[in-house]
Amino acid sequence: MAKLYGMDLGGSGIRYAELHPETLELVGLPTKIDLKEFKESRKLTDFLLSEIPIGSQVGIGAAGNLDPVNLVIAESPNVGLKGELDFPAALARSERTVALTNDMPAGMMGAAVSKMGLTPFWFTNHGSGYNAGYCSEGIPFGSDPLRPNQKVLFELGHVTFNPTKRMQSHSNGIREFVCPGSCGGINHLEAVAAGSSGNKLLSALLKTQKLNHWETLIFSNTMKRLGEDYRGQRIEQTTIDSLTPHVTSSDIFNAYRQSQKWPQDAIYEMQTEGVGLALATMASVFNAKPTPKYIVAIGSFALGERPLMQQARDRFVMGDYSAGLPSMRQAVRNANPTLVFHDDTYVVMKGGAANLIAATEPAKYKEMLRRVK
Ligand SMILES: [Zn+2]
Repeated sequence: MAKLYGMDLGGSGIRYAELHPETLELVGLPTKIDLKEFKESRKLTDFLLSEIPIGSQVGIGAAGNLDPVNLVIAESPNVGLKGELDFPAALARSERTVALTNDMPAGMMGAAVSKMGLTPFWFTNHGSGYNAGYCSEGIPFGSDPLRPNQKVLFELGHVTFNPTKRMQSHSNGIREFVCPGSCGGINHLEAVAAGSSGNKLLSALLKTQKLNHWETLIFSNTMKRLGEDYRGQRIEQTTIDSLTPHVTSSDIFNAYRQSQKWPQDAIYEMQTEGVGLALATMASVFNAKPTPKYIVAIGSFALGERPLMQQARDRFVMGDYSAGLPSMRQAVRNANPTLVFHDDTYVVMKGGAANLIAATEPAKYKEMLRRVK
């Protein structure tokens, strides 16, 4: 029987693993390769051709704009390789069966065919960005699984929000929350609900207050070292701009766990509100149908900060937010959905493989869905 592989291309790396062709369970551990090892797209292609055996089936989930017919990734955020990202096409030309899909629908399909049988669920992805979707009956909403290129992605990260009272009380007067990354929009959900928001919020907070000593901050080792260099000096805006990008959301959470002081407590609070608002926005956009039994969360931010996510869910279910119609909030409160965390890489790999099966062996895919329900 042909070997089946699931593959996930993210901004910083590519992961792949062999999957059991019936159950989609992992066979062995995933291999993760840092994209920095390659520089050129051609070298990544050569590497994958040497790793994935001839005759294999490969389902690929990738972030960005892609062409699932010609198997080319036209644009993938944060992938800095030179040349066209066409390794899926190259694999297909060299006697592998390949399906390529966006990582978000792949993730949803992966969660849908997971043996946990979670449907109906909302799907929420908090990582370098924020986006969401929902799945009613084992098939991503709006998608025919036999047409895996159909979009099911809701880019909710760029929907605008009004800061909540609780957010304002921790914001030190920040009025404008700037969307991280290349968007740069003002008061977009991504500015408070994605992991990439951490250092932007830190930067904005530091500019609101005269701090005289870096040692008041206990962030990452990088920050500590830089702090030594700036000991005793007032933090200038340019210094803040050059230093804060070195701080990750996990640095901030680690600082918060060690000591619930400013500014890390303020960032934690604003991000909790941000995720709660994101869930409330999902209620509005999805019209709360189907009422979710589960909220499946993926993304490094969600996985790294489960207590924050749980707290945000609780606030949302209790109806703390103005976004979302009251009747929808009531529906969600009655359903009281369980928050489930999924390893995003695994789910996306599974979804890539599920897409492949849906595209090439529809009967088998339908049988797989039937079994997980
Ligand atoms: Zn934006």
